[in-house]
Amino acid sequence: MRQLLLASLLPGTVVWNRQLTSLTAQQGHWVLRFARQAAVVADVVIGANGGLSSVWPYVTDAEVLATGTFIIQGEVREPARTCPDIYRLCGGTTHILMSAHQGVSLVINPDNNGTMAYGVTFKQPADWQQEPGLDFRDPAGIRDFLVGLFAQWSEEYRQLFRATSVFVGLPARLLSVAAPWQPTRPLPITLVGDAAHLMPPFAGKGVNTGLRDALVLANSLTSGTFATVEEAIRDYEQQMVGYAQAAQQETSVNEAALNHPSFSFKNRFTR
Ligand SMILES: Cc1cc2nc3c(=O)[nH]c(=O)nc-3n(C[C@H](O)[C@H](O)[C@H](O)COP(=O)(O)OP(=O)(O)OC[C@H]3O[C@@H](n4cnc5c(N)ncnc54)[C@H](O)[C@@H]3O)c2cc1C
Repeated sequence: MRQLLLASLLPGTVVWNRQLTSLTAQQGHWVLRFARQAAVVADVVIGANGGLSSVWPYVTDAEVLATGTFIIQGEVREPARTCPDIYRLCGGTTHILMSAHQGVSLVINPDNNGTMAYGVTFKQPADWQQEPGLDFRDPAGIRDFLVGLFAQWSEEYRQLFRATSVFVGLPARLLSVAAPWQPTRPLPITLVGDAAHLMPPFAGKGVNTGLRDALVLANSLTSGTFATVEEAIRDYEQQMVGYAQAAQQETSVNEAALNHPSFSFKNRFTR
């Protein structure tokens, strides 16, 4: 899909390897500064730089908040050899395994480009609010934590954690679109994708919502319906708030369900 989208653009539309370091409004233009590269002047800026965007301050006062759920992702190399019992439970590379117990859930993809990849989701302890209570530079500590968290599960699962070589910790985060965006801005500017509406991954809506932003904004800017770029941007933002808020709500309902002690994938997804 990436190839398809890139191939449809005029050469030079995408300029790779530029790290935006600052954005300022100067004398009627945006000035974008980049690490180790020349600055660029622009009339319109569309921030698409993800959930920790540096473009927010011109658009919204909202802040990214942790929603209280923590995700640990793990990767197992050579799973057939290193954790054969789980590999067998997945039917080799055939089935995605989803399981939950007492508000802790596990989703395993046995073949993520040749490695077994999984995510463990749980409600983070209250004393992790300021910073995660785990040090991801210490894989042995993460292994011990997961072995403890899965103490009541069968031994196969603890084998999975012992066989894991790479761990990543992700606190679930939300940039709510419920708060209105700034009505006046120095120059035309807006946001798309996670930069606009970062949400936890519990409804699987982040990518499609971002793609929809691009479509709606492109239509607003090119339809000829609006007299100014600012009006076209306002039209996009009005539409975006509607569908992005619905996606954020769905995500939050799923997150609450997932964290509930009685949650079961089977009960939730089969009728
Ligand atoms: C564990 C997990 C599972 C998920 N599962 C799903 C799923 O199943 N379905 C789904 O739809 N969504 C899912 N998501 C969400 C999805 O990944 C995001 O919604 C999506 O990637 C957002 O795309 P984006 O282009 O807006 O931002 P990003 O993918 O974050 O891309 C932003 C880009 O901007 C670049 N950037 C950042 N700062 C700068 C800078 N200063 N200068 C230049 N470039 C910069 C970054 O390097 C990055 O390439 C999941 C997310 C997580 C964390």
